[in-house]
Amino acid sequence: MPTAVAIVNDGNVTIEQSNRSPQSGHRTEGPVESREKSAVLHRSLSHDPFRVVSGEGNYLRLSNGQNIFDATGGAAVACLGHGNKRVRQAVMDQMDCVSYCHSLFYATAAAEDLARLLTTSTGGEMVRAFFVSSGSEAVEAALKLARQYHLEKKPGEPQRKHFIARQQSYHGTTLGALAVGGHVARREVFEPILSINSSRVSPCYTYRGMSSVLEHETAYVRRLEAELEVEFQRVGPDSVAAFIAEPVVGAALGCVPAAKGYFQAVRRVCDRHGALLIFDEVMCGAGRIGPESTARFSSPLHAWQDPHIGVVPDIMTMGKGLGGGYMPIAAMLANERVIDVLQRGTGAFSHGQTYQGHPLACRAALEVQRIIAEDDLVANVRKQGVLLGKLLMDKLGTHPAVGDIRGRGLFWAIEFVSNKTTKEPFESTEAVAMGVHELGMQDPYNISLYPGTGTVDGRRGDHIILAPAYNVNENEIRHVVDTTVLVVKHFFRSAL
Ligand code: PLP
Repeated sequence: MPTAVAIVNDGNVTIEQSNRSPQSGHRTEGPVESREKSAVLHRSLSHDPFRVVSGEGNYLRLSNGQNIFDATGGAAVACLGHGNKRVRQAVMDQMDCVSYCHSLFYATAAAEDLARLLTTSTGGEMVRAFFVSSGSEAVEAALKLARQYHLEKKPGEPQRKHFIARQQSYHGTTLGALAVGGHVARREVFEPILSINSSRVSPCYTYRGMSSVLEHETAYVRRLEAELEVEFQRVGPDSVAAFIAEPVVGAALGCVPAAKGYFQAVRRVCDRHGALLIFDEVMCGAGRIGPESTARFSSPLHAWQDPHIGVVPDIMTMGKGLGGGYMPIAAMLANERVIDVLQRGTGAFSHGQTYQGHPLACRAALEVQRIIAEDDLVANVRKQGVLLGKLLMDKLGTHPAVGDIRGRGLFWAIEFVSNKTTKEPFESTEAVAMGVHELGMQDPYNISLYPGTGTVDGRRGDHIILAPAYNVNENEIRHVVDTTVLVVKHFFRSAL
């Protein structure tokens, strides 16, 4: 059990410095049997991760016998939990059929059926789907498609090569995706080789972005709209290819839904200047936020279908929950306006990858999506999500180190602060989020909470994300919250 904890003192939360290695902040050291010397190049070269031997339902079993409740599904990936037999069978059947063929020459039922299911789920707003192996690749494809659209439309606008994103955003780790994103810590090593023309405006982040309690949400949105307009004017409105944003911000800020009317404002600015709107739904999509039904979308799947967002993008990405982790798969979907231009232009998308539309990955995702639809799991996401949010607020809302609790559906985050009144974050060297995660992994807690940093200025600030599987039940939600509360209280050693 780690002894590195935070101490609450006169409203300020300070970190005890003892028992930490200089590089790992609160990471626990020492002989935890489930960590074995690794030959894999993990993120940390000095700290071997826990070794998983099996996964079933909500649980991951470690090599030391610990059963960990996976309350995050990795990074909001395992939307059906682990070891789903139907998905397993579907992949085996696909293997018996065909495991691989090059998408340049061949189509498969797996990819076609998945594309049909996804485009249909958009109510026809998106007309084509492009399948790759990761969210980063889906974002790369989206950026390239936006560029190609402007080149090939009539009249063409080859000068449109600038992308606007938001500060503290994360859109992936490949060079193009990293270049548009605003995650300072993840960018900084590679800054000199991030060569896409891009710039960033403020995120829509009411907890920290609204200047005071006196500023109404409408005024805040107007201010952000004006800032975006100024940015278009600064870079030259006819040079902007697209604006890219997550409808609900995931890892970079921690489950931040936009203020009402924000995306309508963004759409207005994009339309005014002929720029495309790209929604990155790699983390928040595929049912994760439990979008509300509307007259138009009775079984919504995509975050943009939620009336709170209420804006249709030109291009969108999906990832994580698309295949639920059963196979590496992500997607980029595009609307008719974009596809039509390419169809009338060169007749091809100038982009392709060896494993694009991989049959096994597509078949796994198809089964995952069929299960979500047949079992009406998005409705369960909505229902359990309300309970999850309420319990978190009831039980942790007044904790001195908890600055904000926010989220939608089964996508909730707790942001930690060293001072609740001033919202002062912890320093990044304190590694608070990682410390909470590490403590959760210890017996008797045995829970996986997803740590995130860079919440404040891309460098400082901590949060943890809770993103359980879509088929979670009420008892399991209560278990997740009760355990999280114990972990947070232990970590900050506060008596509430
Ligand atoms: N976009 C968003 C919003 C993400 O959250 C992520 C990953 O966390 C990515 C893109 C990149 O996805 P991947 O890690 O699958 O490449």
